[in-house]
Amino acid sequence: FELRNEDFVDLRDLGAGNGGSVKKVEHTPTKTIMAKKTVLIDAKPSVKKQILRELQFMHNCHSRYIISFHGAFLADPNICICMEFMDKGSLDGIYKKIGPIDIDIVGKVALSVLEGLTYLYDEHRIIHRDIKPSNILCNSRGEIKICDFGVSGELINSIADTFVGTSTYMSPERIQGAQYTVKSDVWSLGISLIELALGRFPFSQSESDSEDSDNDSDLSDYEGTLSPRPAGSVQLDLAEIGPLRPRRKKSEAGAKSDKAKKKEKRKSKGVSLQGGGMTMSILELLQHIVNEPAPRLTPEGRYPKSAEVFIDACLLKDPDERQTPKDLLRHEWIENSRFSSVDVQAWASTF
Ligand code: ADP
Ligand code: MG
Repeated sequence: FELRNEDFVDLRDLGAGNGGSVKKVEHTPTKTIMAKKTVLIDAKPSVKKQILRELQFMHNCHSRYIISFHGAFLADPNICICMEFMDKGSLDGIYKKIGPIDIDIVGKVALSVLEGLTYLYDEHRIIHRDIKPSNILCNSRGEIKICDFGVSGELINSIADTFVGTSTYMSPERIQGAQYTVKSDVWSLGISLIELALGRFPFSQSESDSEDSDNDSDLSDYEGTLSPRPAGSVQLDLAEIGPLRPRRKKSEAGAKSDKAKKKEKRKSKGVSLQGGGMTMSILELLQHIVNEPAPRLTPEGRYPKSAEVFIDACLLKDPDERQTPKDLLRHEWIENSRFSSVDVQAWASTF
């Protein structure tokens, strides 16, 4: 079925991210509910055609762990990508709503993401490149699936010109400019799983500041711009990162507590508070990822040992030591998760 922009009615906004926005829509001729992602592409018509050709590849991806693809078309200057709608949304939205996610559910998430990554790589030699909680979706049938993987090199290049604070899931070797491999996705999975279990981004400030229920000193919320790179290259060079500023501005008018005022003062300096009054910019964060020990599931003993061991394995800093998604499917924690009787559908019905 040929998809055309005029055959859709918008139902509601689902969110916005890297150069795009996503809406829940109905495709009226078929009465199908879909998620429609609109990406503004500033490129020549030939490049847009190439992106569309590359996106068609998603028609070949069939896995219960991968969002299914309905089609993509040009609605100039935008490209629209229509995909399966997941009614419980992404895992970042879920934990921000309900708090830290139970480790048994996190185990099911880990299993699903590893299955999805293994499918993409083994069947199609595709590396995801953008594993993070907002690209892991859940529906009320209790299914967990990944979306937004790197099928189109041209699309990656076009979007890479505006870099919106997602680099913080990036592995140490990627920060240092090495090629993407399937093991870089494993690092990003490890960071994401800690975030879900703790209910906060693992590189954000320590417990001391966490009575602030809004996570606005979260370092994943920074944005910057990258200068255009040579075609075919998605390398991030630290020197290319432009001026940084907090992405969200929560400066609604009205009375503010001293604490809120203090916080704003910090933010206006373009820095974020680390526990103990230390400040960290995104450059420092990237350096931190490269130079400091990887985060862990803490406090030790709160979670099953096999979960701690799994996360440590995902977050080995040397990619040569880190296992592939396929290897990790045989990890003890993942095997336990596969046979675990935890009911994701029942869990999803609670929010
Ligand atoms: P990001 O992934 O960086 O948040 P996106 O533009 O990819 O930015 O997505 C914006 C939001 O739209 C996501 O955070 C997610 O909550 C929501 N979303 C994306 N795809 C779907 C989908 N297929 N079904 C339901 N919600 C979706
Ligand atoms: Mg996304």
